Amino acid sequence: MPERMSGRKPRTLIAYLVLLMSVSLQSVVGSAQSTPELSNPELSNPEPSIPEPSIPEQAISKQAIENGWDLTDLYPDITAWEAAQKDVSKQINETTQCRGQLNINADTLGKCLQSVSGTYKNLMRLYTHSFLAKDTDLANSALLERHTLAEDLFTTYSEAISFLEPELLSIDKDTLNQWQKSTAELNNFDFLIRNTLRKAAHVLPEREERIIAAASAPLRVASSTYNILTNAEIPWPEMTLSTGEQIKLTPSGYTKNRGVKDRSDRKAVFDAFFSRYKNYQQTLAQTLTGQVQAQVFEARMRGYPSALAKSLATDNIPEAVYRTLVTTVNNNLPTLHRYLKLHAKLIAIDDPHYYDVYPAGADIDRQYSINDADQLLGDALTPLGDKYLQLYKSSVGKGWMHIAPAEGKRSGAYAMSAAYDVHPYLLLNHNNDFDSVSAFAHEWGHGMHSLLTQKNQPFAKSEYATFIAEIAAISHELLLFRHLSEQASTAQEKLFYLVEELQGLRGTFFRQTQFAEFELAIHEEVEKGGALSADKLNSIYGATLKRYYGHDQGVMYIDDVYTVEWAYIPHFYRNFYVYQYATSISAAYYLMDKVLTGGQKERQQYLSILEAGGSDYPYDILKRAGADMASPKIYEAVIKRCNQLMDEIEIILKSS
Ligand SMILES: [Zn+2]
Repeated sequence: MPERMSGRKPRTLIAYLVLLMSVSLQSVVGSAQSTPELSNPELSNPEPSIPEPSIPEQAISKQAIENGWDLTDLYPDITAWEAAQKDVSKQINETTQCRGQLNINADTLGKCLQSVSGTYKNLMRLYTHSFLAKDTDLANSALLERHTLAEDLFTTYSEAISFLEPELLSIDKDTLNQWQKSTAELNNFDFLIRNTLRKAAHVLPEREERIIAAASAPLRVASSTYNILTNAEIPWPEMTLSTGEQIKLTPSGYTKNRGVKDRSDRKAVFDAFFSRYKNYQQTLAQTLTGQVQAQVFEARMRGYPSALAKSLATDNIPEAVYRTLVTTVNNNLPTLHRYLKLHAKLIAIDDPHYYDVYPAGADIDRQYSINDADQLLGDALTPLGDKYLQLYKSSVGKGWMHIAPAEGKRSGAYAMSAAYDVHPYLLLNHNNDFDSVSAFAHEWGHGMHSLLTQKNQPFAKSEYATFIAEIAAISHELLLFRHLSEQASTAQEKLFYLVEELQGLRGTFFRQTQFAEFELAIHEEVEKGGALSADKLNSIYGATLKRYYGHDQGVMYIDDVYTVEWAYIPHFYRNFYVYQYATSISAAYYLMDKVLTGGQKERQQYLSILEAGGSDYPYDILKRAGADMASPKIYEAVIKRCNQLMDEIEIILKSS
């Protein structure tokens, strides 16, 4: 699950760091280590034979695989990087000359905004280089030091431009409107100005702003205490599996082992892991309370009606989006229950308990080279049209990827597109399994989004919001799933892809909405004057969990010890973040459904979202493209797909 967001960086960097997130369906599901037998493993009836694909041309050369990405597209050598660093430093200094000047006249405002924006663009290029370089060799001190220099420059920049917002807000609104009409230099900044003015009502007088800024360090203590406690101080249990394997159940050790094949091992993993949280539940309840209180405090001080309203205001997302998501999922819980029953059947269990959620429901033995991944994705992207496909094909072989796993290289996968007039870079750790193919598809979704944004938007409007950032990446995954299940050569292979997609939907759509519902409930509890003890958190979380998993209807039994699961989710310290996993996947399903069943118009509507970049509010960009995220039909598209997948799976199971 993506966890690469920094709360301390200024908003502008956060928008870029979003591109580093990887909300791969696979990663949310977690890696099931082993796969149980199907109730009937003899699924050998081949599908009607499909013509052998012609031998693909190898778009990604052996050299590109071995050499990794080509950073000389950013700077020819380190001397050039160092020269650029000095230049950016000088430019930052020059932007401070704009302090106190913004309200003089339109011309000065235009020049100052261009100077700030140009500096930022150069800074991001510098940052991209040092960021990427260090990630291929994390033990290399020289690379880490260079990146620290870029980060320091970033801090200097943020401090230098702190005058921007208050000075813009000090200009009379009518005057600003007049200036925008008469000054071409302000054209690229229309959205920035509109967005800044929108927040005016919640910007406080200078002294009060200083108080809030000074309070931010103590307000972060709850969250940092949680991190230290769970990462360093809780002595995580160790155990021996029935295979003889010794494991340590840290949070990541648990994620790795929660789907083990042997059922009594699985139960032992769950029991040991969640019992340990139980031992610390009063402290963990305090840290979560502190986090919630910090959000409620800032919302009240800034005059927002609630912590949710404050959080959604960042990207101007209507509250109806959040509430419609939760309501629609609740109205469709029978679909989740249908899935849980089907999954229990796939793993041959009659009385599913919560510890039975993770084992994979199907398995195949297939390897995918990086060129297989490219070929499969290329075929899968056909519905997005020739122009899109050509752009992908002309990009994939260009040395923008760092493909192979290596000692000291960062794990996981991301796309980094912060160097505006260069191109995206993709970090992969391709090891020929299915997760590698879906990560490849996902990251190229980010890459294509950035390419289309940068082709169509000036730098000042190229940063797209978190709310929109995952849609292209997930759309790639969906198209890949469809293509793979359509071209599967055996029933077993087809079953595998259908089940994988379905498992992803449980983990991203249902589970993240369940988290979002809990997160809202605990904030509302504090807002109405309630207290959050461990018992109260277990009870709120437990009630939601049991409702989602059909505990009372006998769908899945939730043992009481697992209601402390809230303590395991670090995302509750990220301030109404998780709902965006569910909205992103829903938007992707809704839009891809329209693309696959529609024509030229629907395709162009989808592409318009990617081309829009950060030129408007994300909700408005999506709504203009025909996806009103406050409408239940967006979320119903996922429900429809879930049921479709289950229909297909049941047909395969029946005919086997
Ligand atoms: Zn992503």
